[in-house]
Amino acid sequence: MLTLPRFEWLRPSTVDETLAALAEDPSKTLIVAGGTDAVPNLKHGLHEPERIVHLGRVRELRFVRVDAERLSIGALTTLDELSRHAEIRRLHGTLAKAASLVAGPQLRNMGTIGGNLCLDTRCTYYNQTFFWREALGFCLKKDGVHCHVVPQGKRCVAAHSSDVAPVLITLGAEVEIAGPSGRRTIPVEQFFVGDGVHNNVLVPGELVTQIRVPARARALRGGYQKLRPRNAIDFPMLSVACALGLRDGTATELHLVVSALAAKPRTVGGLDALAGQALDEAVMEKVAQTAYQQCRPQTSIPYDADWRHEMVPVFVKRALREALQGA
Ligand SMILES: Cc1cc2nc3c(=O)[nH]c(=O)nc-3n(C[C@H](O)[C@H](O)[C@H](O)COP(=O)(O)OP(=O)(O)OC[C@H]3O[C@@H](n4cnc5c(N)ncnc54)[C@H](O)[C@@H]3O)c2cc1C
Ligand code: SF4
Repeated sequence: MLTLPRFEWLRPSTVDETLAALAEDPSKTLIVAGGTDAVPNLKHGLHEPERIVHLGRVRELRFVRVDAERLSIGALTTLDELSRHAEIRRLHGTLAKAASLVAGPQLRNMGTIGGNLCLDTRCTYYNQTFFWREALGFCLKKDGVHCHVVPQGKRCVAAHSSDVAPVLITLGAEVEIAGPSGRRTIPVEQFFVGDGVHNNVLVPGELVTQIRVPARARALRGGYQKLRPRNAIDFPMLSVACALGLRDGTATELHLVVSALAAKPRTVGGLDALAGQALDEAVMEKVAQTAYQQCRPQTSIPYDADWRHEMVPVFVKRALREALQGA
């Protein structure tokens, strides 16, 4: 049986109290929201904090607000709330869909959008017990100096595995971060970095407070396709999100993000040239091949990387068709 390590447990009630609790010893403190990722990782000895700050009582982080300018979602909003919210389903159906595809019902009841955005990266050589990792030899991400996936590599390529993040990027969403020096807002696309050791820009002492989706994204048609072994619970081994601006069957803009292949979601570039063209099968094939050429699946998760690569164009076309059908 795997047990939790010893730690001090803090339960602030406001964001200010949370920031004060984090400030005491930021590098030895772990934030826990729903705990669906953090708790298994604590049991595996992947996080070794001296203190845990649990966000569960911070009510000001649990809200969904829709107005003329934007949709605002508090970091503590659960994935279940997100997937069932009537206005989110009406305005951003792809976002609700992605939330509904995370894990299984129990985990969506506990798991939050903030935790989903900050989800730790995943790897065959990392998501293991201490005993397992010690026997093989530790790695760059925790306690070691080598990567078992890319032996000469200097950066960890563990897989970004959030279902919601790729959709938020296609919608042009922003994330608000609170820290000791105030609040800042950045595009979700800039939240991630390409090193799986810590694949986001948060520094110790900071927390995600809310996510904002601009109203202009309401005019976009979206698609989200997820490849996983068991549809009932598993993490993605490939995910594709798209958002299209359409006028009379012609694409006015096209946003495409492919993830679960490396440490950060990949925004597919070079698609602006296709704007203004009718989205027929030939154009969809061009988009799919563009994505194929830009994606390099890593072997950090236990599914054949070549096969996942071949599935990229298949899933891109499925996502595009889904968006067109929703038009
Ligand atoms: C069996 C299983 C299957 C799963 N399948 C999927 C899946 O298919 N897709 C998927 O996306 N996820 C999956 N997950 C992971 C997880 O359940 C979700 O990603 C969930 O949304 C995490 O949210 P949480 O609130 O539980 O995060 P927590 O576990 O509380 O935290 C996760 C990480 O985020 C940090 N964090 C949490 N909130 C904040 C905040 N506000 N500011 C800063 N840092 C914060 C924590 O410090 C921690 O590092 C799965 C988990 C399990 C156990
Ligand atoms: S990709 Fe390499 S460094 Fe990262 S967790 Fe896996 S083995 Fe460790």
